Amino acid sequence: MSCQHQPCCPTSDASDREAARPVAHRPEQGWSLLCNGLLLFDDTGELLPDGQVVGPHRPGPAVPATSGSSQ
Ligand SMILES: [Zn+2]
Repeated sequence: MSCQHQPCCPTSDASDREAARPVAHRPEQGWSLLCNGLLLFDDTGELLPDGQVVGPHRPGPAVPATSGSSQ
């Protein structure tokens, strides 16, 4: 898979791999496919192109202190 974006997306083994552009999004299934082949789940878990699974790493429940914000 080659990246057509400018600037190029980080590779799937880069530390900022989650910054790659999403190429497919299935909110009803809770995942996004990024340009570098990374499958990113809504709970911040990841499935790498080589089959490696990365567990969710979101620090605690995503409850902001301020109310009224819709993400
Ligand atoms: Zn890209």
